[in-house]
Amino acid sequence: VGEALRPGAMPEVYMPNIAEGDSRHWVPIVDKVFSKPVWISPTRNMWADVLMATEPCIVSRHYHSHPIWAYTISGKWAYLEHSWTATAGDFVYETPGESHTLVAYEHPDPMKVFFVVSGPLQWLDEQGKTVGHFDVFDYIKLARDHYEKVGIGADYVDTLIR
Ligand code: FE
Repeated sequence: VGEALRPGAMPEVYMPNIAEGDSRHWVPIVDKVFSKPVWISPTRNMWADVLMATEPCIVSRHYHSHPIWAYTISGKWAYLEHSWTATAGDFVYETPGESHTLVAYEHPDPMKVFFVVSGPLQWLDEQGKTVGHFDVFDYIKLARDHYEKVGIGADYVDTLIR
């Protein structure tokens, strides 16, 4: 068997059973919404995570200049701006140039969605004006602070960076 990786290539990331496990891995992102990072790429301003909401809630309206991919693991969610509702097994691609408001609905199972996000999210006010942003560097900061606080250690985040 030859070497799997070319010189200069970074190692793979393997993480088993990403939607379950140690509750300390869920990083509080916004009110009632948690994110478990599984891959973070500062050079691409991208990350992959499992987004979780254990009760009905809303992620306020924001604009994406770059694409998003989503695969629903459990629960029930939607964007207020679209007619569909996603449940387990459903795939969503959000094209660049979209503003949306995420809603997690009442469901026997928590909302868990595997997302591949390209930053930034730009938070919007009622008039659709940008009032803030959230990109991979905000995400890394939140994750590092959280993992330090819960005793896993801020350095854990470095193992996810590619
Ligand atoms: Fe979004």
